[in-house]
Amino acid sequence: MAAELIFKPVTELAGLLEAGKVSSVELVQAFAARTTAVDGRVKAFNSRDEAGALALARAADERRAQGQARGPLDGIPIGMKDVIAVEGQPLTCSSKMLANYVSPYDATATLKLKAAGAIPWGRLNMDEFAMGSSTENSAFGPTANPWDLSRVPGGSSGGSAAAVAAGEAPISLGSDTGGSIRQPAALCGIVGLKPTYGLVSRYGLAAFASSLDQIGTFAHTVEDAALVLGAIAGHDAHDSTSFETAIPDYRTELKKRPGPWRLGVPKEFFGAGLDPEVAGSVKQAIEFYRKSGCEIREVSMPFTSEYAVAAYYIIATAECSSNLARYDGVRYGHRSKDATNAIDLYFKSRAEGFGEEVKRRIILGTYVLSSGYYDAYYLRAQKVRTLIRDEFMRVFQECDALLSPTTPTAAFKIGEKAADPLSMYLSDIYTIGVNLAGLPGISIPCGFTANKLPIGLQIIGQPFRETDLLAIAHRYEQAHAWHTQHPSL
Ligand code: GLN
Repeated sequence: MAAELIFKPVTELAGLLEAGKVSSVELVQAFAARTTAVDGRVKAFNSRDEAGALALARAADERRAQGQARGPLDGIPIGMKDVIAVEGQPLTCSSKMLANYVSPYDATATLKLKAAGAIPWGRLNMDEFAMGSSTENSAFGPTANPWDLSRVPGGSSGGSAAAVAAGEAPISLGSDTGGSIRQPAALCGIVGLKPTYGLVSRYGLAAFASSLDQIGTFAHTVEDAALVLGAIAGHDAHDSTSFETAIPDYRTELKKRPGPWRLGVPKEFFGAGLDPEVAGSVKQAIEFYRKSGCEIREVSMPFTSEYAVAAYYIIATAECSSNLARYDGVRYGHRSKDATNAIDLYFKSRAEGFGEEVKRRIILGTYVLSSGYYDAYYLRAQKVRTLIRDEFMRVFQECDALLSPTTPTAAFKIGEKAADPLSMYLSDIYTIGVNLAGLPGISIPCGFTANKLPIGLQIIGQPFRETDLLAIAHRYEQAHAWHTQHPSL
């Protein structure tokens, strides 16, 4: 039984719970056993609290027995990226800086999941403070791609993607600042949804770049992603950038929209640097939409394709240099043991606590914000950001959504790009514009390379039109079986 459970979508697990064919305790046990069996190789988890999860599972089973089940997520374990606060659990951001930090409160997304009965299941590895594209920047060592353990799972939410792909959790949360949900989802062969900026509260998400960060979901199916989105979305007084908008029942609504849609294909996203196998699978997906009656329009987005990565690495580093100033050895986290005075304490605590990539970003960000350079870099990048958003809005006048590859290549080898930050930064070339423009985006599996590495199709939607985005993704998923294939570990 346990082996059959670990790859089932939540919608099916919920049916089994409902019918009394399995208990929540059995579910937690199944995922715990799987994690024990494979995580020594995958290394998706930073920590997990099996006893705590079992206690919540018993409570869920009790509710169900009394006819008080809270819905389809009640009693379902969910993996949490180690950047999203869960009260009483470690919140390390995969950094030495916070290696011993335990969160005193729940993120809003966590609270909402708990209210729906979901069980926070483990803290998932990531690039330190979500800076990276491979999970190699974790202070606790890299996570491996379940499809090929010598390769990266993507990042920064690599643990969240690998855990679902490897059957260690049925769903998980991640965060996406420049691609950190969609890129690892693509590389691990699962669904990754980054909602519109402002749809999900950032309260309790350790900040990297606040104008770009957004919490989102990993799942085996589009319907599961819709289910989790429905649970975590909504206005929150604790996040001043959270948006007041009605939250539909995404899961039922997405089935009521059969299309056809007008789908744009940005021609610049198919240029140099795109691996031919990835291009081939994505083009076949586009053909599928064409054959099913959608209107496919080639569009041009020269500005986004040329400048998004550059603008992002100015804006994101600027914001991170400011956000990470709080880790000063006094209020949070690591405190150097051999400081002689206050200034020395700041310097040594930060020097010892942060890894190389985080330091690189803080230095770059401090530089672009410094007087004399602010106008030349930061202000200019903000203007470029506006033009990128305008470019998306222009193509959305004639398209409901856009189709593109999620990543230029399938999963690369651990160590392959670690010494070359620029080539690492370019692995987000198709995802970053979406964050700069605040749009929703999803990656769904659309094939495999000859080496059996997953390939992702990115669908980019209009602001707050997640229902359409999910419907378009669901249409493809219904007609293909990529998402039913799992790695053999
Ligand atoms: N890879 C990008 C970066 O390193 C995006 C990270 C993210 O989305 N958190 O900044």
